[in-house]
Amino acid sequence: MAIQTVGVIGAGQMGNGIAHVFAVAGYDVLLTDISRDSLDKAIALIDRNLERQVSRDKITAADKAAAMGRLRTTMTLSDLGRTDLVIEAATERETVKQAIFEDLVPHLKPETILTSNTSSISITRLASRTDRPEKFMGFHFMNPVPVMQLVELIRGIATDEPTYKTLLGVVESLGKTAASAEDFPAFIVNRILMPMINEAVYTLYEGVGSVQSIDLAMKLGTNHPMGPLELADFIGLDTCLAIMNVLHDGLADTKYRPCPLLTKYVEAGWLGRKTNRGFYDYRGDTPVPTR
Ligand code: NAD
Repeated sequence: MAIQTVGVIGAGQMGNGIAHVFAVAGYDVLLTDISRDSLDKAIALIDRNLERQVSRDKITAADKAAAMGRLRTTMTLSDLGRTDLVIEAATERETVKQAIFEDLVPHLKPETILTSNTSSISITRLASRTDRPEKFMGFHFMNPVPVMQLVELIRGIATDEPTYKTLLGVVESLGKTAASAEDFPAFIVNRILMPMINEAVYTLYEGVGSVQSIDLAMKLGTNHPMGPLELADFIGLDTCLAIMNVLHDGLADTKYRPCPLLTKYVEAGWLGRKTNRGFYDYRGDTPVPTR
């Protein structure tokens, strides 16, 4: 099926990156959020990120202007009814996502493909609450979307082959690479990454190392570009905790028990970079460890 217009739900870190790459690739993008402020911030951020790509000769000034011209925002979810492909990238909470699909479905064209950028929630379960489980897929972008090459494609139990093939083509049109994953909790990337991040938080919790020594050890000792605690702040500690809970509930194995210290940071509202404080404090010129 030909895709020309794309609806993106949620204008947070992921939604703005997704809108950015689709607009650059020539798609018409309609971005929605429940917060006007998030939408305004997303458009300003996309403008800045495109400008950076122009200054690095990755795209031309004309490409940037054309991409900005393809981006629209709305606070009315039903406006996405006329799009060919919907990518839900709202908060990682199943009740939030289900309510969005419930509200949106009655407005959709019959052929519209529905997807979720969820990091961990069952695609089959989300799909089963819609009128089109065969046209529903997990479409998992990595953060930051304009930079990261991978997209995980997750088929629910009912997803049909034309839907999968269409999304493979879309990934190619973005200049990215797809890896297919089966629909089990947290798929591939987060099934492996999140237990490592959670273990890093346990290492901190048990006093084996400080924030600084844990990140330094993993950067220099295993050649990771970012330490696990720095990466957790980058992803968002609420999202990390939500994914650990999905692994713990979905696989019923105590090895996925979220670290109580991770829960504590989330309870404090210290969610990482997006709130300026997490394992590091970002309010000054250089990040300062909070433990
Ligand atoms: P975020 O907190 O930065 O943004 C979430 C946005 O969703 C907010 O702007 C919020 O206002 C909006 N929102 C909440 N309820 C809504 C609703 N009912 N309708 C429309 N918008 C609504 O979160 P994020 O990091 O962008 O994560 C979004 C999704 O992407 C999650 O499912 C997450 O698991 C997934 N994801 C995150 C990462 C990451 O590194 N952060 C990577 C891959 C996938």
